Amino acid sequence: MRVRDLSGPADAVVVGGGTVGAWCAYFLRRSGVERVVLIERRTLGQGASSRAAGIVRTQGGTPWAVRLGEWSRRFYLGQRDELGIDSGFTPQGYLLPCFTDADVAAARQRMAMQNALGLNVRWLEPGQLDALNPTLAPGRTQGGTYCAEDGYLTPPRNVTAYAVALATAGVYVREGVAFTGLATENGRVTGIQTSAGPVSAPLVVLTGGPELATVAAAAGISVPAGGVRHQVAVTEPHPDLARERVPMVFDLTAGLYWRPEEGGLLFGMSNPDEQPGEAACVDEPYLALMRQRLAELVPVTAALGLRRTWAATIDYTPDHLPIIGPGIVRGEVLPGVTVAGAGGAGMMWGPAVARATADVALTGTSDVVDVADLGLDRFDEAGNSKLGTDPIALPFPEHAPQAPGKLTLS
Ligand SMILES: Cc1cc2nc3c(=O)[nH]c(=O)nc-3n(C[C@H](O)[C@H](O)[C@H](O)COP(=O)(O)OP(=O)(O)OC[C@H]3O[C@@H](n4cnc5c(N)ncnc54)[C@H](O)[C@@H]3O)c2cc1C
Repeated sequence: MRVRDLSGPADAVVVGGGTVGAWCAYFLRRSGVERVVLIERRTLGQGASSRAAGIVRTQGGTPWAVRLGEWSRRFYLGQRDELGIDSGFTPQGYLLPCFTDADVAAARQRMAMQNALGLNVRWLEPGQLDALNPTLAPGRTQGGTYCAEDGYLTPPRNVTAYAVALATAGVYVREGVAFTGLATENGRVTGIQTSAGPVSAPLVVLTGGPELATVAAAAGISVPAGGVRHQVAVTEPHPDLARERVPMVFDLTAGLYWRPEEGGLLFGMSNPDEQPGEAACVDEPYLALMRQRLAELVPVTAALGLRRTWAATIDYTPDHLPIIGPGIVRGEVLPGVTVAGAGGAGMMWGPAVARATADVALTGTSDVVDVADLGLDRFDEAGNSKLGTDPIALPFPEHAPQAPGKLTLS
């Protein structure tokens, strides 16, 4: 990895060494930008990106989500050829079960949109669904949608993959250096201020995951994104949970997802009633609710111990969609600055958000996804988005108006 002093000018600076910032720096370099510098306050991946559950779902609730998911899935599949290393993507198949007539109607409508965009999503009748997933309590669902091409990656391996990509592409990486503000001249960015001194550059990309709002605030840019606790656990192994018997499942009713991991199940969710803020520890009472819901739907897990549990801060946006667009200061676009956030879906959308952000920084547009509506100008001063909320999202705090069913101990 090229770690040099910061004294020379850069052609582009990216703030944040998570999956969005790092892949963006890589794509900028691959687009021919000569000297790309990546600034990371801690070490590469030490934000949300190394702590994720790794779910990669193309079955999005909006065309943006579908396109970003599909672009990222294809990127993961092609990584080994492109880079000689991959993020561990495993096509496992993802099932979204329906429990009510309303769920069925919404799922069928979503599936039509996804199929029209080229996704291979199919409808499973209740019996077909039970046959596909023998670990699920039988007779519980009214069917569901299934995409065999959805899968999961290994988040720490993704960090390794982008570290290798940065090194081989010749991106200058500075760890342990914090972004503290922008340098501007005549209404245009000329570089950044950091804890290790200034870096001059005509292009600046701001990321930060759960800390994006703080990073952007240091640049005078208001970003209505936040961070909140998200917790994940892995059960002990059991023969019934062998990888070939268990598709990934998203129980949208509760906001709980699971997938196979090390012979057991990995499951996770956020508490929609929890106040935003940094996650310091596992919320054990809420974990008990998650376990109870999981045991209702996958009875074999009721008697299993937990091998690992962790909590980390996940990023979210009010509409559960990513942010890709120019920096806006006091209502005016600040030329040269681009802001990016994955809206809590950085494993499934991260590379696509990164590629689209690099494109926007260089050309103002992208053919990865239509970015016209994904910028900061979609939010009003109170942080309300003019876009509809993506309905296939984790139950983050701002999900309240359409909150999924609350978990309660029985
Ligand atoms: C427990 C958990 C499970 C998850 N599961 C999934 C999943 O299954 N599927 C999925 O799609 N997504 C999942 N996510 C979300 C996903 O991990 C994030 O959306 C993604 O990692 C965000 O990437 P990022 O690069 O924007 O942010 P981060 O990875 O947080 O990177 C931001 C970086 O910016 C750095 N930084 C902050 N401030 C500064 C500064 N002033 N100067 C320099 N650097 C700074 C931070 O140190 C950090 O390294 C999960 C998240 C969590 C926490």
